[in-house]
Amino acid sequence: MAHRFFKYCIGLAGIVALSSFFVPEQAIASQLFPEVVLSSEEEAGDALKNDVVCLDISQGDIYISSEGYSREDDGTLTAFEGVYRISGNSREDYGIYILDGIHTVILDDLTIDQRTLRQCCPMIVGEDCDLTLYLHGDNVLFAGAGYSGLVVRDGASVDIQGFGLGSIALMAYPENTGEGLVGTSAIDVEEDACIQYPETIGDEDEIDIYTGDNRLSPERACTYNEEPYLQITYSVSHRCTVLSPEADCTHSQYCLECGREVRGKTPHIIGSAATCTEGATCSVCGETVGDALGHRGVWKLDQVSGNGRYRREVMICTVCHETLYRTVDTGENK
Ligand SMILES: [Zn+2]
Ligand SMILES: [Zn+2]
Ligand SMILES: [Zn+2]
Repeated sequence: MAHRFFKYCIGLAGIVALSSFFVPEQAIASQLFPEVVLSSEEEAGDALKNDVVCLDISQGDIYISSEGYSREDDGTLTAFEGVYRISGNSREDYGIYILDGIHTVILDDLTIDQRTLRQCCPMIVGEDCDLTLYLHGDNVLFAGAGYSGLVVRDGASVDIQGFGLGSIALMAYPENTGEGLVGTSAIDVEEDACIQYPETIGDEDEIDIYTGDNRLSPERACTYNEEPYLQITYSVSHRCTVLSPEADCTHSQYCLECGREVRGKTPHIIGSAATCTEGATCSVCGETVGDALGHRGVWKLDQVSGNGRYRREVMICTVCHETLYRTVDTGENK
């Protein structure tokens, strides 16, 4: 769990910002422009930015900073500047922590359900971070006691976007601590922070927003005035046009806007052909593909021993010309 986050006080003041809606121009613009596939030159210079990394919450906490990501607090950092696609299912206290910087994160059928726990939060966006959150499939962020489903720290900005069909259900778990009631709103927006999601962006597109009490055990909840449950559902037309480099045998191609896998990995391309002793290798990734062919030729009698019981045979491979021997036990003495 990210202890560094809990030193921040729990802000309840900024919830007002929830009521501000806007129209995402980017979603509309992406449908007007032709498909853009990043060239290999761009890929070489900008490899970290034009990529999508897939992380599974069931493997532990996810820390995202401007330099990359790690799976432990102050753990080994993997340098990365591209799009994060987070999926999986967790009922542990694992969370997503945006530490600093500007990021695009796709939630893809992600469930973080902490309702049986205390003092933990599924997702915290740190101070002054700028996060664009895309929704794919159905996503759930249910907090442990004393927290909101999503916390947006002082000065941070979160923009929730939907591409295609996507939803997010957020739930707070209000708890009365000695210092008062905390975890009262589905999204906790601290002072000078803001959160945005569109009310509607066109005739065919639908955005549904539900609020209300949908708690697992309402009897455990204290008295509160805020809305502890919020669901945002998108049904938005989207064409994937800004794509990561072409798929090959080592990686898939993704839409860099919505994170969808546009083309899966391709088959290996045979570089060097299979030989008698080694399988073929892929010219792209170097992996061995398929089995060795085996030597070919005719075994001929070379020598007899053990009173005629053992036959040593010899073969010269017609392909590689290697000389091979084998001993055959005929099982009978002559
Ligand atoms: Zn897309
Ligand atoms: Zn390959
Ligand atoms: Zn051979």
